[in-house]
Amino acid sequence: MNSVDSTPVPASLVIAVDGTSGSGKSSASRGVADRLGLRYLDTGAMFRAMTWWLLREGVDVRDAAAVAALAGRPRIDSGTDPLAPTITVDGTDVSVEIRSDAVNAAVSPVSAVPEVRTRLLELQREAIGDGGIVVEGRDIGSVVWPQAELKVYLSADPAARARRRTAEQGGTDVASTEQSLLERDRIDSGRATAPLVMADGAVHVDSTHLTLEQVIDRLVELAHGAGARSGV
Ligand code: C5P
Repeated sequence: MNSVDSTPVPASLVIAVDGTSGSGKSSASRGVADRLGLRYLDTGAMFRAMTWWLLREGVDVRDAAAVAALAGRPRIDSGTDPLAPTITVDGTDVSVEIRSDAVNAAVSPVSAVPEVRTRLLELQREAIGDGGIVVEGRDIGSVVWPQAELKVYLSADPAARARRRTAEQGGTDVASTEQSLLERDRIDSGRATAPLVMADGAVHVDSTHLTLEQVIDRLVELAHGAGARSGV
């Protein structure tokens, strides 16, 4: 710990962390929230939970009209403790199920449906509330909370992302993981509603050659700078 780390950040601080699939957003965001005593919201888990529910209902996720018609149905709740984040659908814990290959393959088409985004946007803004939170996703700095005191765009080379994600999942097939990540990037960046972009005013952090601890250190340093400038 250095002396900068011990300076408290404003209680209402909002940190938006956006970036490509597998860039390390989740681990870095949780680490930053834990260090700074902030809450943590994984918006990707909300899109995954919606997707899991649609698949379970037997909905054709490529049929945007069918997805749109049902987007209001499931109750999705996110727990914001960075050390133990939770995600439930109609009261059922789905934290393991939402990481399946089936959800990986279906989540980007579901997330491109405007009615899904509108529904989850409402829940995301409600969860942010009075702030004091690190929020990670694809459109947090551009759409969900453009007024965030700190916006970060996290990226890493595809090969590095695929290696990390495969290791995280205890798998061995790096090539197919890379294909899956790149396919999601392609859809997430190309969609008409709230595409993945680097938000205005975002700081770009390339994590390809950084350890997780180094990314967290950098974000904590940026958070202190943003907190001091915001004067809240
Ligand atoms: O972050 P994660 O990889 O879990 O996100 C899963 C998917 O959810 C993304 O590929 C994207 O399609 C969607 N997503 C989104 N907007 C967000 C967060 C996630 O469209 N804010």
